[in-house]
Amino acid sequence: MRNRQATQLMFELSRPGRQAARLPECDVPGSSTEDLIPSEYLAEAPPALPELAEPDVVRHFTNLSTLNMSVDTHFYPLGSCTMKYNPKRNERIAGMDGMAHLHPYQPDETVQGMLKLLYELQSDLAEISGLPVVSLQPAAGAQGELCALMVAAAYFRSIGERRTKVLSPDSAHGTNPASARMVGFETLTIKSTDEGYVDMQDLESKLDDEVAVFMITNPSTLGLFDQQVNEIAEKVHARGGLIYLDGANMNAILGITRPGDFGADMMHYNPHKTFSGPHGGGGPGAGPICVGAKLAPFLPSPMVAQSEDGYFLDYDRPQSIGRVRSFFGNVGVLVRAYAYIRSHGPDGLREVSENAVLNANYLRSRVKHFLPVPHGESCMHEFVATATDLKKDRQVTAMDIAKRLLDYGFHAPTVYFPLTVPECLMIEPTETESKESMDAFAETLFRVTEEPADLLHEAPHTTTVSRPDEVRAARQPIMKWSATTGEG
Ligand SMILES: *Cc1c(COP(=O)(O)O)cnc(C)c1O
Repeated sequence: MRNRQATQLMFELSRPGRQAARLPECDVPGSSTEDLIPSEYLAEAPPALPELAEPDVVRHFTNLSTLNMSVDTHFYPLGSCTMKYNPKRNERIAGMDGMAHLHPYQPDETVQGMLKLLYELQSDLAEISGLPVVSLQPAAGAQGELCALMVAAAYFRSIGERRTKVLSPDSAHGTNPASARMVGFETLTIKSTDEGYVDMQDLESKLDDEVAVFMITNPSTLGLFDQQVNEIAEKVHARGGLIYLDGANMNAILGITRPGDFGADMMHYNPHKTFSGPHGGGGPGAGPICVGAKLAPFLPSPMVAQSEDGYFLDYDRPQSIGRVRSFFGNVGVLVRAYAYIRSHGPDGLREVSENAVLNANYLRSRVKHFLPVPHGESCMHEFVATATDLKKDRQVTAMDIAKRLLDYGFHAPTVYFPLTVPECLMIEPTETESKESMDAFAETLFRVTEEPADLLHEAPHTTTVSRPDEVRAARQPIMKWSATTGEG
């Protein structure tokens, strides 16, 4: 049963004069708004705000919240996004008064605890990455990429080199070339081999003295660890270029290997993926970046630093690219990451990655029989299956499968990414799923691939909105559900 209060707007539920609070008579003399604010600053009419009683508001938002899937309600195998369960302990810690009620303009000496936490987080992230200097400022992975590329550009300017190109593999996340273009670089794509690894010949043909950065995601978005990465780094370094590691897939290698040890000069983390910050629905996330010593002077200001007198925000950094985010970054997400890292400890983090890889391989071994996995004999933390045969034989697409899974209470995997695999589904169970939930998912996925094509083309059948035109829905969102037609 669809709930009227969840699918109607608050404006439709509104009744004149209905309210949630009753205030006592005012016992001080009143004055009119016109006496207090010059009339040219006053609106012509009061804002048309909905008028509702408290239960109406609570039911509306509570019901609305149940229309979506979440990691707290459903298995969420969204590849590349690492939708692991977020321990509630981290929420409690981030919500403590001493954390949540700080003001970013407080003097340093009154926020020593928070600065210490951020300082220690910088050290932990440096240790895990093998890259010694960390900025916590960027607000998301994509902003971390942008920021690190600005740092790279500043570095090359400082040594008097003009480098104009950034290379990335064809399996890269779209943010990689987008970030490079925003910093003003020309972007070139490096082909992958049939096995899904960087095509070394193609790399060498494009590698010259104008290449500033090679951006690589390792493990890649195909869920493969490219063992050529040391060799790639040697070649890029020999031409004076830098290696950027897109750290979105760090969940596969925590405590096992470190980007700084396999040739990276800089990287970002996505704490909202790897370190259990809640995400989906647009954030907030965070995108701390780690760099080698020669790039450190260019990192954003301020940095969290330590002196004999305690912790402080260091603004005295003359070569810095400046600020990329207000205050210290998205501190709430960083506190959760700190709580997660410290509560697991080094051996616990390694176990996280071992179990993430084990789970992905288990699911891969069940799925590959009915949805082929074109790359690799095994995978890291995720794998990419394809529905090309189903499309050829029965006109059933990856999108049909993804939509139908919603009817069975599973969030869809990522589809049509990476761009190198047609009709693909990118599946990432993460370490927090049990064998039972993965079995249920694999069985449902199989059942869906056997269902009649007509049924699948019209799926989902049980959700409030079925199949919007995806482009139009993004560009012209209609935030209204009509009770009479059931349509947007
Ligand atoms: C998620 C992701 C990004 C972007 O990170 P955001 O935190 O969403 O900005 C970049 N690259 C890869 C491979 C990703 O999965």
